[in-house]
Amino acid sequence: MSLFRSFSDIRNLLKTFDFKALQKLSQKVDLNAVMGAVSRMSDEDLAKMMKMIQAGSGKPRKKPEVNGDFYGLEHTLTPEDREIQLKVREFMETEIRPIANEYWNKARFPMEIIPKMAALNISGLTYHGYGCPGKSALLEGFLAMEMARVDASISTFFGVHSGLAMGSIYLCGSEEQKQEWLPAMQRMELIGAFGLTEPEVGSAVAGGLTTTCKRDGNEWIINGQKKWIGNATFSDITIIWARDLDDDQVKGFIVRKENPGFKAEKMEDKMALRTVQNALITMTDCRVSESDRLQNAHSFKDTANVLRMTRAGVAWQAVGCGRGAYEAALKYTMERKQFGRPIAGFQLVQDLLVTMLGDLTAMQTMVYRLSQLQDGGYITDEHASLAKVFCTLRMRSIVDHARELFGGNGILLEYDIARFVADAEAIYSYEGTKEINSLIVGRAITGESAFV
Ligand SMILES: Cc1cc2nc3c(=O)[nH]c(=O)nc-3n(C[C@H](O)[C@H](O)[C@H](O)COP(=O)(O)OP(=O)(O)OC[C@H]3O[C@@H](n4cnc5c(N)ncnc54)[C@H](O)[C@@H]3O)c2cc1C
Repeated sequence: MSLFRSFSDIRNLLKTFDFKALQKLSQKVDLNAVMGAVSRMSDEDLAKMMKMIQAGSGKPRKKPEVNGDFYGLEHTLTPEDREIQLKVREFMETEIRPIANEYWNKARFPMEIIPKMAALNISGLTYHGYGCPGKSALLEGFLAMEMARVDASISTFFGVHSGLAMGSIYLCGSEEQKQEWLPAMQRMELIGAFGLTEPEVGSAVAGGLTTTCKRDGNEWIINGQKKWIGNATFSDITIIWARDLDDDQVKGFIVRKENPGFKAEKMEDKMALRTVQNALITMTDCRVSESDRLQNAHSFKDTANVLRMTRAGVAWQAVGCGRGAYEAALKYTMERKQFGRPIAGFQLVQDLLVTMLGDLTAMQTMVYRLSQLQDGGYITDEHASLAKVFCTLRMRSIVDHARELFGGNGILLEYDIARFVADAEAIYSYEGTKEINSLIVGRAITGESAFV
């Protein structure tokens, strides 16, 4: 029996052909050979082929949103707090991201952003009174994360000012000192720094400070050096921790930049957090009035109270740095094509992305709970130390994988990722190294102190 009963059958069939497409195709392939091969295919294979063709000819699939908050933790914030978080995100995206690499490269701090940051009204976020917002530690953590997600230097600048410097006055200052300093620092009209580490004493600060103070009438005389002090090249005040030659206890001082005998020199040639201005401070018979001694700082225990509060913030910073790197890498893999397709479509690439997301999600849920402990008043040194250790270790792994996914571009500053990799190294070491924080946790869980 003939396939076609009439010419009209043939005519109808020909009408369904796209002759232009056929002509184009004939220039690329042997049409007869293709027809022959297709006609020999089984019905099952033909059906599969049609499925593939139909899937390929559909509308391009919408790309998923790049979002490192996989479990939607930020949606648990109250609407008011969420608004603050988004305001900070917008500030970081519009004011900081465009200039971050330039300032990092030049190792300069963008002083012009301070008034804009002040307008966010987030300094001293968790403190009550003195013009401070009195918000939760959880929100503070989210904001540290938002800042570090774009630029860890800016988050460090802010953490030193709002956490370490304002926090020292808030926790250890007299009522008069709080009234004198906190409102202006909250408005960021005055900027603070925090000087604890010394050239020869880092991890061992608890028992080994060599900077000394001695009372002389209504004044104190401070001698010694402080190293790594963030913001101190331009800060209006620096909180200086020194050992009293008379009672051997650690005391804290609000040292004004114009105090005689106080000198802050910029530390050059850092390979991380280059935008942060770290200073080597030298105090030579530096005279500080008794009224500028922190009236409620009596021993290193009081210094440790400040560090406990801020160490949680550093764990959140590590989350931010990891999240920034993960999101940048995910976006890049969806755009970058090799072998004719986005590299995000390769199994080995997806394996790295999922490993990074798993780490990031574990970090986020850990610091979330840490902040809840802080807000409930249950936080201990070991809680904060465990989060610092875990999150900074995972951050290092995430930035490492992210850098890998960028190939050669991973070492170019313009892709941001090189900056994340370098900055992670500083976050890993400051506010207690991995070893010191591990010793704190180890002591808590075993009941045995392994400190030397
Ligand atoms: C970018 C940056 C910014 C900083 N900002 C400030 C600031 O604003 N204010 C401030 O006061 N400080 C600041 N610091 C200092 C920071 O807190 C110290 O660098 C940190 O505490 C480690 O001290 P260290 O560098 O002297 O290292 P060290 O104490 O010399 O440690 C070197 C190594 O020995 C290990 N180690 C030491 N003791 C032990 C032990 N008992 N058991 C096992 N291992 C041990 C450490 O873990 C580390 O691996 C900053 C540091 C950096 C890098």
